[in-house]
Amino acid sequence: PPAKRTAIIAGNWKMNYGPQQAASFVGEILPALSEALQSQDSVLCILCPPAISLAAVHAILNIPDASATPYIELGAQNMYFEEKGAYTGEISPLMVRELCTTVILGHSERRMYFGESDELVNKKTLSALNHQLRPIVCIGENLQQYEAGETDHVLSAQLRGSLAHLTIEQAREVVIAYEPIWAIGTGNAATAEIAGKVIHHIRQEYQSMYGAEAASAVRILYGGSVTSNNIAEFMAHPDIDGALVGGASLKPDFVDIVRHTV
Ligand code: PGA
Repeated sequence: PPAKRTAIIAGNWKMNYGPQQAASFVGEILPALSEALQSQDSVLCILCPPAISLAAVHAILNIPDASATPYIELGAQNMYFEEKGAYTGEISPLMVRELCTTVILGHSERRMYFGESDELVNKKTLSALNHQLRPIVCIGENLQQYEAGETDHVLSAQLRGSLAHLTIEQAREVVIAYEPIWAIGTGNAATAEIAGKVIHHIRQEYQSMYGAEAASAVRILYGGSVTSNNIAEFMAHPDIDGALVGGASLKPDFVDIVRHTV
């Protein structure tokens, strides 16, 4: 039988907490977070502060190198795909790799407000993988598409566009986050039943792209108004491998989410 997939709880802080606030928030939750993770042993926690706050959080976590602390890792929220050069305002995979194991790519806010296409997200995904970074690639339908019954179709297209040209080995390493746009920041989370069904479809589509082994290894997270009150319900679904948490990752509730992740 395929190895059990280790759950991931990732905190996407979005544009919140500069270096000082980031350090004091992580300092505040770290004892309880570490304790929750030690008693779990089966959850990987990834904190994703704004790029400017990564170094401050890295220092608080006291990570000797990016791969040394087993259960708390750092992720960036975005990056460019080139290694260096004249790209004002961007950060590169080499820079991210100095502090992080992970990078969120193609979040719906990047797609909506900064015009990121599947094609660009694909370039970033390939670059992340080629630089030994774990990409969390976000896909999700909007309310109109959801109401029109187009969810599966939209997600298949995003998946094929954003995750093209991977090797089978890379296809196993990717993390996918299913984030219905209508559930993000609204307090209106999808039900575990709906999210589970959609994620099952994503896994099937992934299987047709990269085969059964990659599809059973790939971790697929749910995101959209996850809190400590609903995380257990999502985790109870066999296809859901964890959560990408926005608003609740800015509060001590994040520790309770980790506690309730089995
Ligand atoms: P939310 O955000 O938890 O605040 O809904 C999730 C996300 O956008 O990743």
